[in-house]
Amino acid sequence: MKKVIHPVLKKLSSIFNENGKELYLVGGAVRDMLRGQKIHDFDLATNALPQEVTAIVRRAGGKVVPTGIKHGTVTAFYKDHTAEITTFRTESGYSDGRRPDQVIYASDIKEDLSRRDFTMNAIALRLPKGEPVDLFGGAKDIKAGIIRCVGNAAERFSEDGLRPLRAVRFAAQLGFKIEKGTLDAIPGALSVSANVSWERVRDEIDKILASPLPSRGFHLMEQTGLLSLFLEELSACKNIDQKGFHQFDVLEHSLYACDYSAAKGYCRQLRLAALFHDVGKPSVRQMDSSGVWTFYRHEEVSANMCEKILNRLRYPNAVIDSVCHLIREHMFQYTDNWSDSAVRRFIARVGEANLEDIYRLRRADVYGFAGKEPDPRSLEPLIDRVNKVMEQSRAFSIKNLAVSGTDLIAIGIQSGKNMGLILKDLLETVLDDPQQNTKERLLEIAKAMSNEITAQ
Ligand code: ATP
Ligand code: MG
Repeated sequence: MKKVIHPVLKKLSSIFNENGKELYLVGGAVRDMLRGQKIHDFDLATNALPQEVTAIVRRAGGKVVPTGIKHGTVTAFYKDHTAEITTFRTESGYSDGRRPDQVIYASDIKEDLSRRDFTMNAIALRLPKGEPVDLFGGAKDIKAGIIRCVGNAAERFSEDGLRPLRAVRFAAQLGFKIEKGTLDAIPGALSVSANVSWERVRDEIDKILASPLPSRGFHLMEQTGLLSLFLEELSACKNIDQKGFHQFDVLEHSLYACDYSAAKGYCRQLRLAALFHDVGKPSVRQMDSSGVWTFYRHEEVSANMCEKILNRLRYPNAVIDSVCHLIREHMFQYTDNWSDSAVRRFIARVGEANLEDIYRLRRADVYGFAGKEPDPRSLEPLIDRVNKVMEQSRAFSIKNLAVSGTDLIAIGIQSGKNMGLILKDLLETVLDDPQQNTKERLLEIAKAMSNEITAQ
């Protein structure tokens, strides 16, 4: 076991020891240390009560914020480092499967470790030296890459319905296997998992999305019933076959696309867009007269369904808007016949700022046809055209027009619905012919439009 204890932890723990208190490094920090990873946060456990922790840290010259005092946690800022310090706990009474009803402090680290979820998360290093307390074979499981509940899996899952989802998330994040007994206990705990708040489900889904291969997590969710519980729209995509160049059903296709969407760096919005870009396919699927499945307007239906899903998961509106926008626009079919104004309209619809993302989504979509690296040149003709028209003009939205609302008011057009219509028409004019984007010319056109509207 390779462990180098950070000097700040050594110092802090000796102050705790001088005050007659114990301090341990616990949880994810120990797990990640044993995996040879750099640790990013210090989770510490102690037999000092929160008030005592506060007093000790303050006396040592540190600062304290009572971040989770209800759960016995304070955040300590000490010598430019942050640590979450939690008093030993034992938890009892999960009457709703969401959170323990009350926190009861435990007298020793052993009791504290027994209430933790998985063996890999239930190892403590006694500070300052770092002697391990590993009661459940956590180090062995980490070495073997195994996620195993502490104690009886069914019981542990019935206490807290988030744990099954955490198991799946860790499997995706760490590339570990879930031990059979632990995996088999998940379906029986779904009714408990159903009580978990959507915010907590979202946080786990976010971590699955940020893992190297999200499909690993979503496959496990599918296999255990968690997918139909939390993302039933996605699980409805299983066995929805597609014809033509598609090799997989809609679920597999979406998961391949989701994995690939981060090929050039992680971006949550892209991963979400790739995951849900075809989620509307099951509901629009129809067989045409020649016996081929069609998915008419599925991008629109998928975007609408995705909006509902992301709202349910309490994603911020800005995330929902940009994900749904990418999904709505994902079906563009570029050919060399596109006129320059068609290219400009494409840029205007997608938005200049989203072009790179829509290309990345397309590559992920193509990867999902057969799980094969897409031809890197396939988007080149479109990208070349886009770059070319952008050299000529950058007016793709109303705010890039050579006139503003104020200019229109100055020639007697009142702000309101008509002005909105006129500005939209001016943009159409400029998309058709960027040469028209001069103040003089647009004011002339606006005046004519306004006269026409008043004459009606
Ligand atoms: P991450 O890298 O995601 O932060 P972590 O293991 O540190 O992983 P946290 O959610 O920060 O996860 O929790 C810290 C520790 O608290 C865990 O390692 C585990 O020991 C314990 N823990 C967290 N959530 C639960 C839970 N639902 N049930 C039991 N123990 C839990
Ligand atoms: Mg943590």
